[in-house]
Amino acid sequence: MDLVFMGPPGAGKGTQAQRLCARLGVPQVSTGDMLRAARKAGTELGRKADEYMSTGRLVPDEVVIGLVAERIAQPDARGGYVLDGFPRTVAQAESLDRILAAAGRQLDHVVLLEVPDELIVERITGRRTGETTGRIYHIKYDPPPFPNRGEGGERLLTRSDDREEVVRQRLAEYAAMTAPLVAYYATRGLLRRVDGVGALDDITTALLRAIGVA
Ligand code: AMP
Repeated sequence: MDLVFMGPPGAGKGTQAQRLCARLGVPQVSTGDMLRAARKAGTELGRKADEYMSTGRLVPDEVVIGLVAERIAQPDARGGYVLDGFPRTVAQAESLDRILAAAGRQLDHVVLLEVPDELIVERITGRRTGETTGRIYHIKYDPPPFPNRGEGGERLLTRSDDREEVVRQRLAEYAAMTAPLVAYYATRGLLRRVDGVGALDDITTALLRAIGVA
């Protein structure tokens, strides 16, 4: 299944994408994770991306399009993938259509996780990520097993762009650049809206239903 996962920052895309991928047996392709890995590795691309990420702006289209094209051509994505955080602009969506068409593939569903703005800042500022596993927790909604430690005792990190002023800029970027994609996919009959407010398990169930799995 070829899936796109959309929603504002803090909607729970990463958490739900991890669950969906485990259930469907397909890889999660997160441009945010790929960019953070490049930044951590100190590559040229990572340094360039950091200039944008640290202030909550979108990285230039050509950078992320190249990353995604390479990633979904890998053997483990042959049976499908969940794109998490891509596309984020109409230009990225058009490139994705071209890349898929050239490979004789097409998207099956575009899931939009909807969460009201007022919940987003609370969600993002409570978010913690396991240092080794990348497992995402929330101090209130999905608490880690130990104070400040994840499963196996791994350290928990807070994303540097999860500070409130950066979050506000990310929301502004979403409204300006990414929200127009909703119409783009709705007119193509691909859009599935899912309420992103509620218990994690209930949202996962709703998601699976929206893509015709549960
Ligand atoms: P995320 O982990 O999806 O919230 O992404 C974190 C940051 O990485 C974003 O605020 C952007 O700066 C950058 N980023 C991730 N995906 C994209 C994309 N598809 N297009 C442009 N920038 C992106």
